[in-house]
Amino acid sequence: MLALRKVPATTSTFTAARRSMATAAGQYDLVVIGGGPGGYVAAIKAAQLGMKTACVEGRGSLGGTCLNVGCIPSKSLLHNSHLYHVAHEEFTKRGIEVTGLKVNLATMMKQKEKSVTGLTKGIEFLLKKNKADYIKGWGKIVNAGEVSVAGLDGTTSTLKTKNIIIATGSEPSPFPGVEIDEKVIVTSTGALSLEKIPESMIVIGGGVIGLELGSVWTRLGSKTTVVEYADAIGAGMDADMAKLFQKTLQKQHMNFKLGTKVISAKKNAAGKVDVVVEPSKGGPRETLTVDVVLLSIGRRPFTQNLGLDKAGVKVDNKGRVVTDHEFKTNVPGIRAIGDVIAGPMLAHKSEEEGIAAVEYIKSGHGHVNYNAIPSVIYTHPEVAWVGLNEAEAKAKGLQYNVGTFPFSANSRAKTMDDADGTIKIISDKKTDKILGAHIIGPGAGEMIAEAVLAIEYGASSEDIARTCHAHPTLSEAFKEACMATYDKAIHF
Ligand SMILES: Cc1cc2nc3c(=O)[nH]c(=O)nc-3n(C[C@H](O)[C@H](O)[C@H](O)COP(=O)(O)OP(=O)(O)OC[C@H]3O[C@@H](n4cnc5c(N)ncnc54)[C@H](O)[C@@H]3O)c2cc1C
Repeated sequence: MLALRKVPATTSTFTAARRSMATAAGQYDLVVIGGGPGGYVAAIKAAQLGMKTACVEGRGSLGGTCLNVGCIPSKSLLHNSHLYHVAHEEFTKRGIEVTGLKVNLATMMKQKEKSVTGLTKGIEFLLKKNKADYIKGWGKIVNAGEVSVAGLDGTTSTLKTKNIIIATGSEPSPFPGVEIDEKVIVTSTGALSLEKIPESMIVIGGGVIGLELGSVWTRLGSKTTVVEYADAIGAGMDADMAKLFQKTLQKQHMNFKLGTKVISAKKNAAGKVDVVVEPSKGGPRETLTVDVVLLSIGRRPFTQNLGLDKAGVKVDNKGRVVTDHEFKTNVPGIRAIGDVIAGPMLAHKSEEEGIAAVEYIKSGHGHVNYNAIPSVIYTHPEVAWVGLNEAEAKAKGLQYNVGTFPFSANSRAKTMDDADGTIKIISDKKTDKILGAHIIGPGAGEMIAEAVLAIEYGASSEDIARTCHAHPTLSEAFKEACMATYDKAIHF
């Protein structure tokens, strides 16, 4: 069992200093439990729509997993480790001479912390500016109209409310046989704060988080091996793109052991970690010894001590709160959004749901288009996709066209000498409507916005092919890929 967050077992620990926020603050229209991207966005939106709102957060700072131990710190380390990697591996061939280049990990970590603190404080300011109360403590649902809070200051309070939104997020999934100490056997949280660069590292799990953090430490000098149970990396990616992506990471010295099952990871007497693995389909075991193991096999919903049982809120077999399309749980007055419910665990998905849930409460109408939620892996090159991949289009029995365009034929990528990658567009054979877009290449995470907009507006590949793109830009490659797709759709 992971002890990732110190949630008090019961609020009664704090009865000595019991007081009632309901008396002080009156009845709320909405109490949001959890101050991550889903929760704080919902709270701000509700306050802007005139609802008396509180956001309860127990970790001591706002922004949730995303700002504190997720998207933001990882992107800071990805950015700076990329700069180092380019300086180390490419400056000379680019005509830039540097001597004495080295990593100062403590400074890199400080810079990461600065970006986190700046943003978390910014959210606190936004809540205040919009007149939403920020309640520092762990919330527990007493019933549909009441949330008790074990305050971080030792007090206990009760918030009376007309509506509750559960936005308590997720935590790393544990793995039997792998005991986390966040020093040498770490989750993503520990991997964001290692005190020294490990000489060797095993990443268990070839998903987005493992590949991003594996990239960080590989660039900084670790000999990294990704051990993945499946035969391909990047779960959810288009199969062609996954193969190409693996090749680009291999070029950057990341090693892969696919189709391999981890049996255990244990710290040995020398302070290193022995990782026992065997082929997923069975076969001889081997032991790999490394300095650090990163366990990143996915995340699970976080609902510890939230009082769901007592309140009668249903969860599914994966522990996710069950909701309908309006984010209503089975208990009237209680909704749930973000990582704690079904769907991709992404910050922007949580935000969209936060806004929609509040709009449903306020007006009965909301909108989230799950076909148009992009995914991005912030490695270099970046990988980004939205909509259907080819296997999904096939599984749905759709007739489709595929158009591709490589960055090696894009003038801007050539000038940057950064031309690894390609773009693949999938469009409906009859209507030419774009069904999916898959990009590996420099700036893919920004470029995918064009594809998201296209899907949201129901654009065809012809629409994009006929849209003027500035020259020389990377986005011309997107237009070219759409032209290649449209070429297959036209029947003169
Ligand atoms: C290393 C890493 C990198 C990532 N990178 C990206 C990325 O680049 N892009 C992306 O879109 N997503 C990324 N994610 C995923 C993203 O962080 C999550 O999808 C997102 O944070 C989910 O938002 P949320 O509001 O649903 O939950 P969370 O962000 O998990 O927030 C939930 C909050 O609720 C609080 N809470 C829980 N229970 C209680 C309670 N009872 N009372 C009070 N407070 C409570 C928690 O302390 C937490 O702060 C990354 C995740 C990790 C781990």
